[in-house]
Amino acid sequence: MATATLTIDLDALISNWRALDALTEAQTAAVVKADGYGLGADRVARALMRVGVNRFFVAVAEEGAALRQAVGPKPEINVFGGHMAGDTDMISDMMLTPMLNSVNQIVRHFEALPNHPFGVQLDTGMNRLGLEEAEWAAVAQTVLTRSPTLVMSHLACADEPEHPMNPQQLATFKRLTDGISVPRSLAATGGILLGSGYHFDLTRPGVGLYGGMPFVEAAPVTGLSIPVVQVREVAAGESVGYSNTWIAERDSRVATISAGYADGLIRAMGSNVSVFADEIRCPVIGRVSMDLITVDVTDVEQDPKSVELLGLHQSVDTVAEAAGTIGYEILTSLGARYYRRYKSA
Ligand SMILES: *Cc1c(COP(=O)(O)O)cnc(C)c1O
Repeated sequence: MATATLTIDLDALISNWRALDALTEAQTAAVVKADGYGLGADRVARALMRVGVNRFFVAVAEEGAALRQAVGPKPEINVFGGHMAGDTDMISDMMLTPMLNSVNQIVRHFEALPNHPFGVQLDTGMNRLGLEEAEWAAVAQTVLTRSPTLVMSHLACADEPEHPMNPQQLATFKRLTDGISVPRSLAATGGILLGSGYHFDLTRPGVGLYGGMPFVEAAPVTGLSIPVVQVREVAAGESVGYSNTWIAERDSRVATISAGYADGLIRAMGSNVSVFADEIRCPVIGRVSMDLITVDVTDVEQDPKSVELLGLHQSVDTVAEAAGTIGYEILTSLGARYYRRYKSA
């Protein structure tokens, strides 16, 4: 095979969901926006449905519509972006539940689809989405008489457990919602790990399901195996790749592998990462090209046919750190050229 193989372990995904679910008394939904963090929202959602997940979250209505086709009529599909202009038919036809973010959206929703389910998102300090405190005070009573499915908010700093923003947002969320009889949700992956005070009625993990930080104990979900196109001898003093950034210090063997920044292996990771030929670490050398990466296989006895970039030896977060970014970005950048293999017992 000339193209790299991305293996997605659906059993690991399920065990991550179960592990996060076991940490709370709350119901546990699953966030599958951005095509299931790059891993395929349809396959991810169908796998999670087998263990009882019946509430999903996506970013925008179009994602919800595609997901509805994959999961059928039963699961609840919530849309973080709410009820945006032009979305009414899709929300109605595809039975999507928008999380209304502003007075504008509330008016739009009540006028266009007065009997259609909705939730509400409140801003507790992140200043990204949701009703501000004063807006909520003005409309809460009217909104609550229409029985929203959920009142939710989102934490800005949940991946830093000691951050003072966490208790601050928690206090605000409580002030805005204590005493209401509608289910509440504040925690994504990071919030689950902050403890029971943050759990309320429903949690909304995303990245932890897919094996990413801050859920340190997550089982790895992704494996990436990249075929070797050719192996060459490079004499000490010769250079490899664009701009001659790597110069051999010893007589070396260099393998050229078939993936590059066009496949989401972002150029900035440069030579801060390695690939693995079985157990042997092979440093990436020279510049990452669009479709190719060069690696030093001098210490591998036999020319490898393929090497592993993601898997048991190296996590999404290790690669992210090498590239100066976060696991979320590595996952959602995973390329369209990969052959995708879904693994499940
Ligand atoms: C993306 C997102 C989530 C999931 O967050 P993770 O950190 O991936 O668990 C939950 N809620 C909202 C509002 C989001 O945007």
